[in-house]
Amino acid sequence: MSEPVLVILMPPGGDGLSNAAAEALGAGSRLAGLSDASLVCAVIGQDIAAATTEAAERGVDRVLAADEERFARPGGDLAVAAAAAAVEQSGARNVLLLGNADALELGPRLAARLDGASLMGVIDFSGSGDDLEVTAAVFGGAAHAAYRLSGPGPRVLGLAPAVAEAPEREAGRTADIEALTVPAVESRVTVEQAPSADEGPRLEDARVVVSGGRGLKDGDNYDRIRELAEALGGMPGASRAIVDDGWAPAPEQVGLTGKIVTPDLYIAAGISGASQHMAGCSNSRVIVAINTDPDAPIFNYAHYGIVDDCLEVLPELTRLGLELRAGR
Ligand SMILES: Cc1cc2nc3c(=O)[nH]c(=O)nc-3n(C[C@H](O)[C@H](O)[C@H](O)COP(=O)(O)OP(=O)(O)OC[C@H]3O[C@@H](n4cnc5c(N)ncnc54)[C@H](O)[C@@H]3O)c2cc1C
Repeated sequence: MSEPVLVILMPPGGDGLSNAAAEALGAGSRLAGLSDASLVCAVIGQDIAAATTEAAERGVDRVLAADEERFARPGGDLAVAAAAAAVEQSGARNVLLLGNADALELGPRLAARLDGASLMGVIDFSGSGDDLEVTAAVFGGAAHAAYRLSGPGPRVLGLAPAVAEAPEREAGRTADIEALTVPAVESRVTVEQAPSADEGPRLEDARVVVSGGRGLKDGDNYDRIRELAEALGGMPGASRAIVDDGWAPAPEQVGLTGKIVTPDLYIAAGISGASQHMAGCSNSRVIVAINTDPDAPIFNYAHYGIVDDCLEVLPELTRLGLELRAGR
């Protein structure tokens, strides 16, 4: 059996795993399967018992758990030290990180510390051992690049969103759980104030997202996005253009410089489909576009398209959504 594959998770305390974290375990399991390796998961945080149990129930062979107050919001030097300790304790060569903004900092720093290689935006792997081939999304998801990774150091791979299905949960399944030992760290940067967007439901976890763009014509019309999102039990999103115009709040921006979402249903109303927007939603299971321009780039990504005025279509969809929920 070759070296284990390690998935590093830093979940918020109290809850189980997010969809993205569970999907990362699916990616880890696929990568481990390529070389008949075992799957190890490091869970680093505070009050992480539920997350640790869920990792075991989703098929991990061994869990390294660091459950301490100092990991309530690990970042910077502390996150690098904890992740490095997990790589060393697990003996892993292939290391997977969740595809979020934190990974963009953690991945390269971790690889540099351990004299390894790092790649972000990873969507697929093939081969194994010394000849691992990795495909990654580049240019904001507009293109894919292929890489071959060799050399003895660890490979730190930051996953693109939704690259694998979460493994089925098997209630009561157990794994070897071991304390992860992380040395004391003098952090050079501390988080003074956490972003308030962390409170309440997260756009990244929504199963339905309804987003609006400049085709809404006016800031007040963003209410139509909110109404449809609510009718479908989802959350509202926005293009950067209308966030910049003050029509929608920044935490609702989807895209390269906003949130990356992977819902079952993404409705884009009055959004052109610029690559920077699509970088945040192109992995949605089903994309529905509403746009008056039949040549708008969004239709290259959409599974279903409505060529019409979104100001007329949105209220109609809201009415249908409400009827559906009421069981009529
Ligand atoms: C470094 C960088 C990072 C960026 N990051 C992001 C990001 O994270 N997220 C993001 O969204 N953008 C981002 N952008 C901006 C991006 O390039 C686009 O400018 C932006 O996504 C366009 O927003 P939009 O589709 O709402 O507006 P537009 O491009 O103006 O498109 C409006 C669309 O609405 C359609 N329309 C008009 N009237 C109607 C109507 N009545 N009904 C239906 N459709 C109608 C039009 O046909 C058009 O397709 C970034 C850009 C840069 C350079």
